[in-house]
Amino acid sequence: MPETFKAILISRGEDKKQSVAVTELTEADLMDGDVTVGVEWTTVNYKDGLAITGKAPVVRRFPLVPGIDFAGTVTASRHPDWKEGDKVILNGWGVGETHFGAYAAKARVKGDWLVPLPEGMTGREAMAVGTAGYTAMLSVMALERHGISPERGSVVVTGAAGGVGSVAIALLSRLGYHVIASTGRTAESGYLTELGAAEIIDRAELSGPAKPLAKERWAGGVDAVGSHTLANVLSMTSYGGAVAACGLAQGMDLPASVAPFILRGVSLLGIDSVMAPKELRLEAWRRIADELDHRKLSTLATQTGFDGIIAAATDIVEGKIRGRVVVQM
Ligand code: NDP
Repeated sequence: MPETFKAILISRGEDKKQSVAVTELTEADLMDGDVTVGVEWTTVNYKDGLAITGKAPVVRRFPLVPGIDFAGTVTASRHPDWKEGDKVILNGWGVGETHFGAYAAKARVKGDWLVPLPEGMTGREAMAVGTAGYTAMLSVMALERHGISPERGSVVVTGAAGGVGSVAIALLSRLGYHVIASTGRTAESGYLTELGAAEIIDRAELSGPAKPLAKERWAGGVDAVGSHTLANVLSMTSYGGAVAACGLAQGMDLPASVAPFILRGVSLLGIDSVMAPKELRLEAWRRIADELDHRKLSTLATQTGFDGIIAAATDIVEGKIRGRVVVQM
């Protein structure tokens, strides 16, 4: 009898309704790939919440093991870069969307999708960062490429108490920025200040319809929220500033005007973590390992086990998760 292991499986019936179950798989059930990894740590991202609850069409192949992020150890490899025993991480590339993902004790993937676990980081820490944190770093790097620096003025972080927001605050404050955190959970002010927020504003200030231009309040921003919030952030960005747009927690729409772009030279920088090229990923992970304060990382992470994944997925789409959830498999 082949060895079986636990996995979460999303299926779809003839009525096109999605269902989620815990099941047992064997290695023969896994999809094609040249590297097999024993999954040790994973996490629950907003996208995993959308996949498991079916709130958005994240899953595009059925049945599917969800989970877009994992850290683990290579158990078999036909890829020249990897050998048994290597510690690796994976973020995105359609894993947990079209390819069997992290919520199983084993994953078989393309070796080209893997990056080495950065030196000085544990698998747990890498998953406390996860796609959300790596996207926060991609956003910070995009602002820097645009010439934004602490001397240029404040930066705003929206969705501040969420995963992307929490890591963005920790990274930006470490780099010396005056960080303004926008949150709907002002009761979490102590948490946000501990991460490095210098000012906290109520997200209600940014969530209604935006004026074409408003008073200049910040030189840059990391926006995890989209919709009216991003429109307001843009309208309040000072001359020559830039905003990295990476999320849609309020909505996928962007009810904005061109005024910030054509009258203030503001730039909107798009951030995608899923298909980001390998060099950019390696740079982002190297910087995370070097620059993210380990103490702050443990402040923003809570831990659960395999059995807690489905509940955490529901909670994250309801905006109930603070910071990041790390899962020990
Ligand atoms: P979280 O759920 O952890 O955080 C989202 C935060 O947004 C919430 O904590 C809340 O912050 C705020 N928020 C939620 N609902 C609303 C609302 N209706 N209006 C305004 N603010 C709201 O998710 P993540 O941080 O993991 O992800 C954030 C976004 O980034 C998601 O849309 C996700 O899909 C996207 N993302 C994109 C990636 C990319 O490659 N571009 C990669 C990773 C994530 P608070 O309570 O502080 O107000």
